[in-house]
Amino acid sequence: MRSIREILKKAADKLIESRNTNTPVLDAELLLLHVLKQSGMEFDRIKLLTQSGYLVDERAAGKYMSLIDERSKGKPVQYITQKQEFMGFELFVKEGVLIPRADTETVVEKVLEKASGMNKPNIIDMCTGSGAIAVSLAGNIPDGRVWAADISDIALECCRINAARYGFEKRIRVIKSDLFENIKEEGLIGNTDVIVSNPPYIESEAIKGLDVNVRCYEPHLALDGGKDGLVYYRRIVNDASEFLKHNGIIAFEVGYDQGDRVKNIMEESGHYEDINIEKDLSGCDRCVWGRKKLFGE
Ligand code: GLN
Repeated sequence: MRSIREILKKAADKLIESRNTNTPVLDAELLLLHVLKQSGMEFDRIKLLTQSGYLVDERAAGKYMSLIDERSKGKPVQYITQKQEFMGFELFVKEGVLIPRADTETVVEKVLEKASGMNKPNIIDMCTGSGAIAVSLAGNIPDGRVWAADISDIALECCRINAARYGFEKRIRVIKSDLFENIKEEGLIGNTDVIVSNPPYIESEAIKGLDVNVRCYEPHLALDGGKDGLVYYRRIVNDASEFLKHNGIIAFEVGYDQGDRVKNIMEESGHYEDINIEKDLSGCDRCVWGRKKLFGE
C-alpha cells in the first residue's frame, strides 16, 4: 500500500508529462478526493496534506490511476467526477453536455439584477445544457418559473437531474425543443419576462483550434455557432421577440469578441432598445442584454 503523498506525486507527474492540463496538482487532488469518497472516506484538500501519510488501499489506488490515465488523455475532471459547481449549486454533468463555465455567472448576475422586482417572472432559458442558468435563476428567484429548452437529450437528462436535486421540478419545466419550436404551446407568447441564452457561439472553423480538453470531449453541438459563430444569436433575437412582454429582458452570453456584433444584431432586428454590453471578471465582453420595445416589429 502507498501513502496519499506517494500516489499524489505519481499522479501529478503523469499529468505534467501529458501536457494535457494546466492544473496537474489540483486535478490529481480532486480525482483522489473523488476516489476516496467512493470508498467511503470523506477527505478534503487540506486533509490530503495534513494526513498525507494515510495509506490508500490497492483497489482504490488502482481505480485512481485509471482515472489519472483518462485525465492525462484530456478528459476533463468534471466528466470523470460528474460534477461542476456553478453559482453555489453542485450540478450533475456527464459527457455529452457542456461543462458550465464561470463566465456564465456574469450573465446570471445580470439577469438577477434585472429580474429583481419582477413579480412571478416567466423565464425562458434557451439552450439550457445542464441547466446551470435555469437552476441558479430558480434558486435565486423563489417566485419565478423557468422553461428550460434544449435540443440535446443528454442535456435534458442532466437538466432534469439538476432541477430535481434542488427540488425545483415544479418551477423548472424542461422541454426538448429546436430553439422556440416546442415553446409555442406553453402560453408564453407575449407573456415572457426574461429570455436568457448561452447558445453555441464558436466559429465552426475555430473548433479544431480549441484545447484538446474541449475539442475532443465537449459536445460540438453546444459549441458550434456556424460559420461566423453568430447563427444562433440571429435566430434567437428574431424568434424571441414575440414571446417577450413589453420591457421584457433578453440576455445572451457572448464570446469575448462578439459583444458589438451581437448588439448590432439586436439593434438591426428593431425589436429591442436599451441594449448593453457587460464585461466579465477578466474584462472581456461576456453578456449582451436589452429590453423588448413596445411597438418593435
Ligand atoms: N465558453 C465556451 C468555450 O469557450 C463556449 C460556450 C458556447 O459556445 N456557448 O468553450
